[in-house]
Amino acid sequence: MPTYPGQIHSKLPHVGTTIFTVMSRLAAEYKAINLSQGFPDFDCAPELRALVTKHFNAGVNQYPPMAGIVPLREAVAEKIESLYGARYDVEHEVTIVPGATYAIYTAVAALIRPGDEVLLFEPTYDSYAPAVEVHGGVPVYVQLRYPEYSIDWQAVEAAITPKTRAIILNTPHNPTATVLSAEDLRLLEAVLKKTDIVVISDEVYEHIVFDGHQHQSVARYPGLAERSFFISSFGKTYSVTGWKMGYVAAPRELMNEFRKVHQFNAFVTNGPLQYVFAEYMKNRDAYLQLAALYQQKRDFFLDALKGSRFKPLPSRGTFFQNLSYEAISEEKDTDLAVRLTKEHGVASIPVSVFYRQPPAHRVLRFCFAKSEETLKKGAEILSQL
Ligand code: PMP
Ligand code: GLN
Repeated sequence: MPTYPGQIHSKLPHVGTTIFTVMSRLAAEYKAINLSQGFPDFDCAPELRALVTKHFNAGVNQYPPMAGIVPLREAVAEKIESLYGARYDVEHEVTIVPGATYAIYTAVAALIRPGDEVLLFEPTYDSYAPAVEVHGGVPVYVQLRYPEYSIDWQAVEAAITPKTRAIILNTPHNPTATVLSAEDLRLLEAVLKKTDIVVISDEVYEHIVFDGHQHQSVARYPGLAERSFFISSFGKTYSVTGWKMGYVAAPRELMNEFRKVHQFNAFVTNGPLQYVFAEYMKNRDAYLQLAALYQQKRDFFLDALKGSRFKPLPSRGTFFQNLSYEAISEEKDTDLAVRLTKEHGVASIPVSVFYRQPPAHRVLRFCFAKSEETLKKGAEILSQL
């Protein structure tokens, strides 16, 4: 095998392989029940698969428009307006992208210069800080307060400096499964009011909010919508995480910068699948019923864990349930996650990997986007510990 003879000054010296890849690989290797990486173990709707066959055979297999096909952008704009009230211009303010991760990365690339600061909440979804750092930006962290993982808005205000260029928001939140309230969004609006800070709002779990709560999108708050990239993912909403497609809505000035980067990176997003979603999005029930499906799964999983020594933390959104194992073990969560996979056959995600320094509390994250049979088996094993 050839070897690179030069020296590499890594732009991301502290970054290894993502925990999702690591744990899913370990789960496969040990044939463990995989409750680690977040993806459904059930298939998407058959109607959606039928539309794939239809549109891949319809002769739309060449480059679609750079921003996405118009019918899909229209469907996205109408959906956002009907749910959250903000009206985005189809021509200039909506872009179809190859997934939410790409959208976040592209927004950061479009905005962040070396030395610019970006506010992140810790624990932080794993793609955010590397996206900032690879562009020379500096992540500035505000801690979420355990066990509610609530935001101290005074701490946010105190973290803002003249170099703060953006804040990455994520509700419902991965990995904590918490959601922001209307009060949170109003406080954010007030904190940002006299600044030029841009909000990159990761709302991939917008349709997975439980117990009658309402998803608090930046698109509900004019003072936030005017400075935000609203980002969502078809992968979560339609149980097709492998298709890697999502959308971004933002004011024209911001979207203009976003597209400058997008056109030289992916350039376009899978064409036939855009026709598929443009048609399938007419079925509003598909996303409006998602919360009920996952709430039932959350409750099923929690019920199956009754009597276990794991202590559930509140799961108010996403398809994750965090469990504290303080009564079970003194081990580091990274060690326990590996041991549970290898010795007991259940894979989870250690939450400390979403922190720079492991926190004092011990928590594992379990994905319940699984069949009841899988959840039952997993919970049975966990209950024996
Ligand atoms: N943001 C968060 C918070 C996520 O949990 C995920 C996905 N799993 C993504 C972004 C990525 O979404 P996509 O697969 O569309 O890139
Ligand atoms: N977002 C998913 C999770 O949190 C995984 C996505 C990925 O593997 N990058 O589990």
